Amino acid sequence: MAILVEQGGRYVQLASRHQGEIIGEMAIIDGKPRSASVIALEPCRLTVITSSQLHNRLTQLDPVLRLCMHTILDRFRSSMTPAAATDGGSEPRVTVTSIESVQALDALRLEGQLAHAIRNDELELHLQPIINLGDRRIAGFESLIRWRHPECGLVPPASFIPVAEVSGQIVEVTRWVIAEICRMAKDVDAICAAAAGRAAAPFFTINLSGQDLAEPGFVDGLERELRINRRDARHFKLEITESVLMQEPANAARVLGQCRDMGFAVAIDDFGTGYSSFDYLHRFPIDCLKIDRSFVGSLSSDHRARAIVGSMINLADGLEIPVVAEGIDDQAQASILDELGCTFAQGYLFAKPLLFGGIQGFVADWRHAEAQPWHAASRRPVDRKLLTAGSHF
Ligand code: C2E
Ligand code: CA
Ligand code: CA
Repeated sequence: MAILVEQGGRYVQLASRHQGEIIGEMAIIDGKPRSASVIALEPCRLTVITSSQLHNRLTQLDPVLRLCMHTILDRFRSSMTPAAATDGGSEPRVTVTSIESVQALDALRLEGQLAHAIRNDELELHLQPIINLGDRRIAGFESLIRWRHPECGLVPPASFIPVAEVSGQIVEVTRWVIAEICRMAKDVDAICAAAAGRAAAPFFTINLSGQDLAEPGFVDGLERELRINRRDARHFKLEITESVLMQEPANAARVLGQCRDMGFAVAIDDFGTGYSSFDYLHRFPIDCLKIDRSFVGSLSSDHRARAIVGSMINLADGLEIPVVAEGIDDQAQASILDELGCTFAQGYLFAKPLLFGGIQGFVADWRHAEAQPWHAASRRPVDRKLLTAGSHF
């Protein structure tokens, strides 16, 4: 096939295309006038790509890639005839608005700043206590990252983890979190042991992304940090979401299996918000379910939420694994969860995520809270075997 453009009243051949190649008219992307024609030099069969097929894909494209594509198209057009560069046409088009291009550039800028933040110690690890509803003791802590930005202040993870995931920087972020929590765990253990007057070893949870499990050095990195900090894997839980499990199930099963062999527990984070597939519960070795706060938030006002949470707890009971309920804001939610047989609870009712400096005060204050009655209602006994410090949750 020959690609022709009109120049000075006659057609000039620009290029030729052969079997298996794509012939594309730029106008299908940006809706501007057609700039070239194609003629078949011999009989051939074409597979048509419609403008809507392309349009749907382009609108889902990463904004940075879309901006790059439009920049290349514009540059290419302006290197052609002036007529080809003018606007026109009524076909659906994918254009980059100024807002989108600002967003795309912001994302790129953020990636650069995040790389700088990782190198310059601007990341901080906060720990949110997890309470055992049975004995009301502090059972563990979830590690939650923040970015202490020199100009913007404390940046929440929701503002930079998605960018880190797209850019691949999440692997480095997780590496930092693992090193930091292994280092902090020693001091937090000492605080808890001193306050409880016994060697009460809390567990620490670590949030993982899909790319972490795909990183070849991930398991070795975990093992190295445990060794350097003389920590026992049985005091750490790896939190993954349902979608992470489903991304590359075979690899996830292999890597998580290795982690469990080392002693780590595996918890499903935000349970109930993703696939909630019984198939993966059946296929993957899972040690704990974390019920998302979207269910917990409406527990006191919505009997349906109560039924759903009750079913999740029953499911976990059947699998002989404990449940952590997240986002507990008030006493009423804590009481309902307690009645439903939930093992662990985490939320602002007990504590917001704390810097290391706030842990000592919290642990000391919590000793007094342990003496207070939780609520008047009777509760189901908690299976003690699930609660042994050092075992999987
Ligand atoms: P997540 O893993 O579901 O973490 C729980 C989130 O709920 C935390 O938000 C916590 O501060 C918040 N939360 C806890 N209790 C309450 C409550 O009673 N009320 C309300 N409204 N919120 C509560 P945070 O720290 O902003 O983290 C948001 C998400 O960012 C996390 O959700 C997790 O998906 C991600 N994230 C945080 N740290 C890391 C990390 O180190 N690595 C990765 N990959 N993701 C992280
Ligand atoms: Ca989590
Ligand atoms: Ca969660």
